[in-house]
Amino acid sequence: MEKRVYIETYGCQMNEHDTERILRLLENSNYLETKNAKEADFILINTCRVREKPEHKVYSALGRYKWLKEKRGVIIGVAGCVAQQEGDKLLDRIPYLDMVIGTHAIPMLPQLLQKIEVSGERICEISFDQNGKYLEAILPQKPPVVGSIRLDKVKSYVTIMQGCDHFCSFCIVPYVRGREQSRSSREIIEEVRHLTGMGVKEVCLLGQNVNGYGKGLEEEISFSELLERINEIVGLHRIRFTTSHPADLSGELIQAFSKLPKLCEHIHLPFQSGSDKILKAMHRGYTKESYLKKIDHLKEVCPSIALTADVIVGFPGEREDDFRQTLDLMERVQFDDLYSFKYSPRKGTRAAQFQDRVEEKVKQERLSTLQEIQKEITFRKNQELEGCVKEVLVEGRSRQTAQDLAGRTRSNKIVNFKGNLELVGQLVPVRITKAHPHSLRGEIVSVQEPSICNLRSAIRNR
Ligand code: SAM
Ligand code: SF4
Repeated sequence: MEKRVYIETYGCQMNEHDTERILRLLENSNYLETKNAKEADFILINTCRVREKPEHKVYSALGRYKWLKEKRGVIIGVAGCVAQQEGDKLLDRIPYLDMVIGTHAIPMLPQLLQKIEVSGERICEISFDQNGKYLEAILPQKPPVVGSIRLDKVKSYVTIMQGCDHFCSFCIVPYVRGREQSRSSREIIEEVRHLTGMGVKEVCLLGQNVNGYGKGLEEEISFSELLERINEIVGLHRIRFTTSHPADLSGELIQAFSKLPKLCEHIHLPFQSGSDKILKAMHRGYTKESYLKKIDHLKEVCPSIALTADVIVGFPGEREDDFRQTLDLMERVQFDDLYSFKYSPRKGTRAAQFQDRVEEKVKQERLSTLQEIQKEITFRKNQELEGCVKEVLVEGRSRQTAQDLAGRTRSNKIVNFKGNLELVGQLVPVRITKAHPHSLRGEIVSVQEPSICNLRSAIRNR
């Protein structure tokens, strides 16, 4: 009999992708996704512990579904970072919780679920898997239908590695995702081929530190070499990756932006702080100037590259002058967008022991100042695109108006425009008619139409 699973996901792309993998896995065990928790037989909260806010949401989510346990005996589970770190303690704390499943245990989920269904046992599985089995592909089996195509069928995440060996002093990731483990290039390429065979046009290669790709594998292969091989795959049009650590960003990878036609002109390169003193305390392994040098190199190799980053304000010991250095770095780089966070101490990390804490009020002020400045830069960068024709991969209906389509440029900017749903999954040239603070408005043009901007990317791969 068909059953229903409802998953609530918090945190980064890694977690989003884990949810996608869990859904595929459960589909093979007759559990289909529902967007309505009330009709679910299994509710899973896929958690994140990287920052404080998502963690609080987890506990309130669990509280929200307690009545469903009482009324219908729904099975409730917690997955992801919080599950990995808290383990049994979660079962002790929440009596109506049935399952705690760690970041490496996803492939075991169907068996664990069955065990709970049969015996009613409460289960906690959080051991780390040293053989990398948890990284194996869980492939979608059903081909998409054009017209009702789902957004995640046009583009897809592909995990190339997991874990992290960096141990930045603020970060919980190495403790909850384990050490770096890479998948073999053969497996990755097979997965990308399978996805393109099902209509996927764009892949985003995922890893906490993609530059570390290849470490520990029998084959000798760098991340840039992996990109070269993926670039050869027929039917694939676009490649992205995230996240790249600035200290490990090699000259070879920078060159890939001019060498590989399918590699999109966008890099997410978190800098975290512009102060050398704070970068050192964060254990980041680079300075403000060495970061800026890499940015200059990227801009030189690929002048149209879009740049985004993560930044933290209010790290212990951050004085006004350190914060000014962060603002200075932002002004010099002119990022297309920034993900900015207030520092929050994570239990088990080194920085959680640091004394010189920044007051919450000061953190908030710094965050607002930084976000105001970035808002203007992002808007201005969007305005610079007005009148240009850009290649857009059509992803689906617009979130703004159901009659419109939405897609992304190679630089990862969202464009809304009028068009037929049959265009979903296609690359179309779109003239940018209006810039908004967080998106662009456009109209489809014919490929031949001349434009004031470089059309190289608009006609490529058509
Ligand atoms: N691997 C990436 C890198 O090295 O830049 C980052 C991955 S981390 C999951 C995503 C972002 O969360 C970080 O870049 C950082 O800005 C933010 N973050 C991580 N720990 C944090 C903390 N304790 N407080 C505030 N922000 C944090
Ligand atoms: Fe966390 Fe640093 Fe690893 Fe990124 S590189 S995942 S911030 S420890």
